[in-house]
Amino acid sequence: MSGDGLFVRDRLYIGGEWVLPHSGRIIQSIDPATEKVWAHVAEADEADIDAAVKAARAALSGPWSRMDPSRRGAILYRLAQLITANARQLAEIESRDNGKPVRDTFGEMQRAADWLTFFAGAADKVNGAQIPFRTDMLAYTRREPVGVVGAILPWNSPILLCCWKLGPALAAGNTMVIKPAEQTPASILEIARLAEEAGVPPGVVNVCPGYGKIAGQALASHPGVNKISFTGHHGTAIRIMKSAADNLKRCTFECGGKSPYIVFADADIDRALTVAVHSAFRSTGQSCSLASRVFVERPVYEKFAATIAERAARIRVGAPSDPKTHIGPHTSAEQLAKTQSYIQLGRESGARLLTGGGRPEGLDVGYYVQPTVFSDVDPTTRLAREEVFGPVLAIMPFDTEEEVVGLANSTDYGLVGGLFTSDLSRAHRVAARIECGLVSVNTFRPVHWMLPYGGYKLSGIGRENSMQVMDQFTETKTIVVDLSTGVP
Ligand code: NAD
Repeated sequence: MSGDGLFVRDRLYIGGEWVLPHSGRIIQSIDPATEKVWAHVAEADEADIDAAVKAARAALSGPWSRMDPSRRGAILYRLAQLITANARQLAEIESRDNGKPVRDTFGEMQRAADWLTFFAGAADKVNGAQIPFRTDMLAYTRREPVGVVGAILPWNSPILLCCWKLGPALAAGNTMVIKPAEQTPASILEIARLAEEAGVPPGVVNVCPGYGKIAGQALASHPGVNKISFTGHHGTAIRIMKSAADNLKRCTFECGGKSPYIVFADADIDRALTVAVHSAFRSTGQSCSLASRVFVERPVYEKFAATIAERAARIRVGAPSDPKTHIGPHTSAEQLAKTQSYIQLGRESGARLLTGGGRPEGLDVGYYVQPTVFSDVDPTTRLAREEVFGPVLAIMPFDTEEEVVGLANSTDYGLVGGLFTSDLSRAHRVAARIECGLVSVNTFRPVHWMLPYGGYKLSGIGRENSMQVMDQFTETKTIVVDLSTGVP
């Protein structure tokens, strides 16, 4: 902290050094609970990104590439332990930056460490194969790092989503330039500090907070970058894909969602209700995988909608630092305005507002909004089809399995979906037909390091997590040796 109470991080982390940004500019990070600047963080521009990419390229031929994979895994494991040891401080920084309750960000730090622990173990298990395609030839594959990975992060869970990329990228032997979102620039520099302490060699991890149109664009178009791993809005992914095309960068994208949550009348309704409330409003609705569209079979619809509204009204909205808070403010004034505009659209479209829609009482400062439930939403309206990224739930009735599958698939997104039923055959039948990368039955969004995660349609390209992600951080080289040469 500086003398005036500001949290100051005025240096970027490039090539193992803490350096002032080329332009001397800083990002003023706003605390969403107070609407006041709480941190000054170094801002990277094109020249800084260029320096970071050069450092990452140089590090590709340094000790990192010669290190046994098990040793790389041990360093990652050490980083996981350091995140656990520093979880309280990291959680507080993240909460000041993005407004999530500290109890949630604290939990995310443990999850981030779990992710790194899994990938620490993966480092020495990425094998090639021997292929018996001819008896006079030896053919085998090697799994090699892709090279320099540009990681572009969103603001909703910066450290956790950073570790989703950093774990597999480093386990596979790549080097990285990480660009945190401008709304939450502070916390990833702490990860750089811990990576240094864990023994990650200079240049392997470089951290450059900056604006999307400047630093993000520079990273996506830099010819020295081999792969972009991005989480954020699909519109940004499309722009990145175009910038990345010039040197055919490998790209993986985790984008938004409008998750269908389907409740059949034969389900355990109490459980479906509890999970729905838990899954719809968490993180102030600012997560790509929340239950934002709830479809309920007609016989149980009215009661379900009324009970969800009752429970949503009891959610405690408040300061992120208060341990009793369930949900905090939105991360930014822009995000609050976006949520308010969808609430307005809902009102104008004739949907029934069951609860919420305004500012919580007593919270006059901060980007707060009440958990909001609309029922009888017309499935063709924008509220039913577009991602709000706020605590706004749209409930709709359905009559048949065929109809609800059509409704569930009627958006441009396809990230996460779930259904509640006690009919085993129907569970498998419907799960197979939902166009989403992750579908769950009688539970919702079981996101885990061992489960592949990613989207259909505009929700993204590629999968994160599980051993499957290692394919996306490696190139496969096939080597064929003619065994007949030299044979008399
Ligand atoms: P965003 O796309 O605006 O920003 C994401 C990142 O991209 C930021 O670091 C930003 O600076 C950068 N960026 C912006 N313009 C750029 C450009 N032209 N070139 C390169 N980089 C650029 O998204 P956001 O508002 O930070 O995040 C919200 C979105 O992210 C939502 O749609 C949400 O669903 C999605 N999201 C998806 C997942 C997932 O795992 N699928 C997780 C979290 C968030």
